[in-house]
Amino acid sequence: MTHIVHRNLREAPPIAASGRGIWLTDASGHEVIDGSGGAAVACLGHGHPHVVAAMKAQIDRLCYAHTALFTAESAERLADMLVGHAPGGLTHAYFVSSGSEGMEAALKIARQWAIEAGQAQRTKFIARRQSYHGNTLGALAAGGNAMRRAPYAPILSDAFSHVSPCYPYRDRRDGESDSDYVARLAAELEAEFQRLGPQNVIAFCAETVVGATLGCATALPGYFPAMKAVCERHGALLILDEVMSGMGRTGTLHGWEQEGITPDIQVIAKGLGGGYQPIGGILVHGRVIEALTKGSGTFKHGHTYQAHPVACAAALAVQEAIRDENLLDNVKAMGALLEQGLVERLGNHAHVGDIRGRGLFWAVELVKDRASKAVFDPALAVNERVKMEAFKRGLACYPMGGTIDGKHGDHVILAPPYVCTEADIAMIVDRFGAAVEAAVAGV
Ligand code: PMP
Repeated sequence: MTHIVHRNLREAPPIAASGRGIWLTDASGHEVIDGSGGAAVACLGHGHPHVVAAMKAQIDRLCYAHTALFTAESAERLADMLVGHAPGGLTHAYFVSSGSEGMEAALKIARQWAIEAGQAQRTKFIARRQSYHGNTLGALAAGGNAMRRAPYAPILSDAFSHVSPCYPYRDRRDGESDSDYVARLAAELEAEFQRLGPQNVIAFCAETVVGATLGCATALPGYFPAMKAVCERHGALLILDEVMSGMGRTGTLHGWEQEGITPDIQVIAKGLGGGYQPIGGILVHGRVIEALTKGSGTFKHGHTYQAHPVACAAALAVQEAIRDENLLDNVKAMGALLEQGLVERLGNHAHVGDIRGRGLFWAVELVKDRASKAVFDPALAVNERVKMEAFKRGLACYPMGGTIDGKHGDHVILAPPYVCTEADIAMIVDRFGAAVEAAVAGV
């Protein structure tokens, strides 16, 4: 008997009893590789000694102090590490407890920037279809995941509108070059600015690499510079959601480092604390902070647990481990092996439509028919079947799909911890390949 509102109300999941490195063990003793770090969270794996020791030391010293009264040393040090050197002009950090809260903070600081900059008429956000920015109402309104939005559509803000994502696998037209496709998407964004009145738009929001909704869909070269140019032309901000794709997941600390642009506001979460504590945040460009500092001198927002001392100590230790163990190099090297392994094992499979990703962030999109790219009937829950087949074989991976708009199919994400080895990658590919084959056999 369970008293928890589990995701599946009819069946509770197994109890996770312990974790060590890339392995998780359930209460029955079944061991699985944490092949997706949950939802691309556990970037250091489990039980990393440096992080555990840092958390214990912080707990012994101080667990909590309210930010209306105090700042915490761990929070100051974490901010200093992330933005002390002003990467891309980002000079300030604001820490919250999740990705959704990070997105809410990004939306609100952007709106406040408009007011403090004397442009209070800016009240609109443009985001992208087939995106996910979180489950709280502001973040959900920003997101374009049709399935997650549907039940709540009547209570979502109409300050948000949506344009197409960059999704070459399905949305590129026959014979269209990369640059023509990018130009078409930039023209669509420009048209949306014009429809809303360019002077009314606060910001354009996008995931640098689309995570849960499209499965590791990377943008084409030139896409982000083209979108940023539209924003700059109209004096709007660019908000990049790197909750899933940031903090090293794609092989650079920030996903935008590979796109040739910098955001005005960046949302971070999962890889920030690696799951050791609930923590998310925003990194904010100096010019946004300057407008607030010169204006009202306050960010009109706040949470009881923001910049929590233990969460910040954990995140600081996670980021130190990534730096001190040169893990970004390992992400690149193991990512290349993961790509190669997936392509060799599944590249020609009749139901594998696309294999895509970057760094240690990869997805396989499963289709009913490779030639037409027709999606499976959502009722078959093919992505869930892969998850279950993988679990039986000792691998946890992250399923997504259940499309209700037919615009994308089932996909499954692999996002192993940055500490994984060549042997781990071989095991992941082997178990995942077998799971996919078993899941689609006979459907
Ligand atoms: N943005 C993105 C891109 C995400 O992937 C997620 C979580 N999957 C969120 C926001 C929301 O984060 P959280 O679940 O921590 O609220």
